[in-house]
Amino acid sequence: MIQGYLQHWACFQCQKTFKGELSKRPLERLCPQCRTPMTNMGTDFKAPAQKNVKQWQKVRLLFQAGVKFFPQEGTQLPGERPDTLADVPAFLKKVYPPSAGERLLEPANSRNVVAPREGRLVQHDQFPTQTYSLLGKTVQSGEALEWFQDGQWLPIGFICRGNGYKPIPHPYALPRRADAVFDSGSPTFLSSQDRLRWPQQ
Ligand SMILES: [Zn+2]
Repeated sequence: MIQGYLQHWACFQCQKTFKGELSKRPLERLCPQCRTPMTNMGTDFKAPAQKNVKQWQKVRLLFQAGVKFFPQEGTQLPGERPDTLADVPAFLKKVYPPSAGERLLEPANSRNVVAPREGRLVQHDQFPTQTYSLLGKTVQSGEALEWFQDGQWLPIGFICRGNGYKPIPHPYALPRRADAVFDSGSPTFLSSQDRLRWPQQ
């Protein structure tokens, strides 16, 4: 148990960190600015500049892969971390080498590429000029995604534009089969809390 060290809590929405003691219920700390649950990034976390979207995406990818920023036993240093967003796949491959079984399942042409599919929706900018991304790749309105709901991955169409392709305040999910997106009576709104992933290519 780490005590006396200030933890760095990150809000991936605001791209900001807030310092605080380790709380008893660390998952429930909310961002003072946007009220999104924040993430404890550890004691050694150095926050990127607030406007540096790529560095924040890098940090988010590392967090989603389970990499945190606590001092390592022995050296008391945070350990090696990739410098740029582009370095993340190679870094994760080094930290988590694929098992022999996973290597057998990979298509031959993707042997050297780690392509995480699952992540959380990130909003860039504010309504009405906002855009959305998943794992650093822009999600267009109507794009095919998968959404984790009730223990399974459901094919959805991601909708963030309304009639006349006008921006709408909140993105939502519509059911999808094959390439067709179905207009259902009640849209299900999506937030940064939902688990989303890109469909298998
Ligand atoms: Zn926030």
